Amino acid sequence: MSLVVQKFGGSSVANAQRVMAAARKAIRAKHVGNQVIVVVSARGDTTDELIELAKEITENPPAREMDMLLSTGEQISISLMAMAIQSLGERAISLTGAQVGIVTDSTHTKARIKSISTARMRKALADGYIVIVAGFQGIDEDDNITTLGRGGSDTTAVALAAVMKHDSSGPKLDVACDIFTDVDGVYTTDPRIVPEARKVDAISYDEMLELASAGAGVMHSRSIEFARKFDVPLQVRSSFTDSEGTWIVPEAEWMTKIPVCGAALVRDEARISLEGVPDTPGISHRIFEAVSAKNIVVDMIAQSVGSNGRANVGFTVPSNELTPTLDALQPLVRELGARLVHDAQVSKISIVGTGMKTNTGIAEKMFAALASEKINMKMITTGEIKISVLVDKADAAQALRAVHAVFSLEKARQGAGGNVGDVNHSKITSGHDHKNTDDLLEITRQLTSMEEILVSEVQKTVDQGRITLFGLPDKPGNSLAIFQAVAGGGIVVDMIVQNLCGEKVDLSFSVPRDQLQSALSLAVNAANSTGVKVQASADSEIATLYVLGVGMRTHTGVARRIFGTLASAGINIIMINTSETCISVVVQKNQGELAEKQLKKVFDLD
Ligand code: ADP
Ligand code: ASP
Ligand code: MG
Repeated sequence: MSLVVQKFGGSSVANAQRVMAAARKAIRAKHVGNQVIVVVSARGDTTDELIELAKEITENPPAREMDMLLSTGEQISISLMAMAIQSLGERAISLTGAQVGIVTDSTHTKARIKSISTARMRKALADGYIVIVAGFQGIDEDDNITTLGRGGSDTTAVALAAVMKHDSSGPKLDVACDIFTDVDGVYTTDPRIVPEARKVDAISYDEMLELASAGAGVMHSRSIEFARKFDVPLQVRSSFTDSEGTWIVPEAEWMTKIPVCGAALVRDEARISLEGVPDTPGISHRIFEAVSAKNIVVDMIAQSVGSNGRANVGFTVPSNELTPTLDALQPLVRELGARLVHDAQVSKISIVGTGMKTNTGIAEKMFAALASEKINMKMITTGEIKISVLVDKADAAQALRAVHAVFSLEKARQGAGGNVGDVNHSKITSGHDHKNTDDLLEITRQLTSMEEILVSEVQKTVDQGRITLFGLPDKPGNSLAIFQAVAGGGIVVDMIVQNLCGEKVDLSFSVPRDQLQSALSLAVNAANSTGVKVQASADSEIATLYVLGVGMRTHTGVARRIFGTLASAGINIIMINTSETCISVVVQKNQGELAEKQLKKVFDLD
C-alpha cells in the first residue's frame, strides 16, 4: 500500500480557485491508488496579518496566546480544503494538530515535536477518507496549543510521512512526500533576489539541510532533518503545474564533484561580540549556556584564539532575538569584566556543496567575489560542506549575486538542467527500504522523541596545525591575499574562523600539520605585502574533534552539551565551528584523547 503526504503552502491555498486546484491534486493521487494525507498552511499572508493584529494590541504578545492566535490560520485552510474535496465527490476529513495527536514540547512559537499518534489518521485513511491536517501546530502535554516556528508546515508534513512510514500498528506503507509551493523546485538561490538562479533536479539531504538553515526559505530546515533521519523521499514542486520538481535524496556520487550547489541569505542577523573574556576552560560553555537557556539558537560562532590570557568570542543570532540575548549575557559580562558589543545590521551569505569536501580553493573564490565588489566580511565560519560570511545588511543582495555568479550557478550542470543520472522516484523509494530490524527498532524508539538530536559519530584528527593572524584591518579583501597565497602554495585550508574584534579582525585557520610552517610564512608575507603589520601565531599541537549528526545547530542542546562536557573535563576550546551536520572544536593536542572519550560518552557512542 502506498501513502502520499502532500503539503500545500500558503500561496497554494491563497484563494478558492487554488484550494480547488489543490483538492484536485489530492483526489488524483487517491485515484491512482494511494492513501492521501494533505497538510496545509495558512492562506496567503494570514499568518503575517495575525501577527500584525496581535501587535495592534501589545508590542510583546504572550507566546502562549500567540500560538492560540496563529494556529487559527491553518484551521481555516483545513476546513476549506475538506469542503473543496467533498464538493468534488471524495471523502475528506479535516483535523487540527491536537486532533491528530501531534504532541510537542511547551516552547511556544517554536515548539518541537515529541510524538505523533497514527491511530486517528490510520482509521480515517482505512475508511477511504483523504485526511487533511493543519500544518505548523501541535499540542503540549498540558493541552496547550503550540506552533512549530515560521514555515513549520513543511515539518508537519515530513513528520507525518515519517511516522506513517515507520508505524508498526498497521500494514507497512510505501510513503512519499510532495511539498507543493509557488516555485517549481529548489533553486540555486532565492529566485526573487537572483533572477538568474537555476532550478536543481536533485540535492542531497545534507546540502538541503545546510541551505535551509542558511536561509533558503523554500524549506523549513527541521523538515529536512526528519526526512533524513527517517528516510522520507521528498520532492519540492509547483502547485500550479504538474512538472517534476526537485528531489531531496541521499548523497549520490555525482554530487561529490560539484563544489557549490547553492547559495543562501539570512537577511536579519545580529552580531554579538564578547571582547576580552578570560581564555580559560569553560568560558564558551558559560556564554552559550546563558543564551541557550533562553531557547535562543546561536547561528555562527567565531571564537578566536586568545592572546595575553584574554579571548574574543563572536557569534550571531536572528536579529529579533538580539534583546533577549543581550539580557541573558549581561550578568556574565559583568562578572567576567568583558566588553559586550553588538551590530544589528548584518546579513549572512552562505555557499553549500558536498563537493567542497574534496575541491580546494572554494573559500578563496568566494572571498575574491566579495572583495571585487568591495564588500567587507565581518565574520567567516566554515563547515564541512558550507562556508558562511557576515556582511553589512546594505550589501547583502549584491553579495549574494556576486557569489552566485562566481560559481556560475546559473549554468546548466549535472543535477541542474544537465543529465542527473539515477534520480527517479522508483529508484529513490526502493533505495529507501534497506533498513534492517535493528535499525527499525532504533527508528521506532526515535519516533517517541522525534526531534531529539541525533549525534551519530565523534571523530578526531591530530594531523592539523592552526595559524592565527591578529589585527588585520577591517576592510574588504583583508583576508583574500592570505588565502590566495596559502592556496598558491598548494595547501588545503580546513577550518576558517574570522572574527571582528573592535576595529581589527582576527583570522584563524587550520592546515595539514606538515605544511604549517610554509602556510605561516606564506600568510605573513601576504599580509605584509599589503602593507599590514600583523602578529601571527602558529600551533602544531592541536586536535580537531568533529561531532557529526543532524540538526546540530538548531538544537540549542547539542552545542551546550559539547561545551559543557569539555568544560567539566577542564579542556580549553581553541576554535569552534558549527553547522547543521557537524560541530567542530579545536583543542590542545594533549587533551584530544580525553575530549574524544568524554564526547563519545556524553552522546552514548562508546
Ligand atoms: P510556501 O508558502 O509554499 O511554504 P514559501 O514562501 O515558504 O512557500 O517558500 C517558497 C519561496 O521560497 C519561493 O517563492 C522563493 O522566493 C523562496 N526561496 C528562497 N530560497 C529559495 C531557493 N533556494 N529555491 C527556491 N525558492 C527559494
Ligand atoms: N503559516 C505558517 C507561517 O506562515 C506556517 C507555514 O506556512 O509553514 O509561517
Ligand atoms: Mg514555506
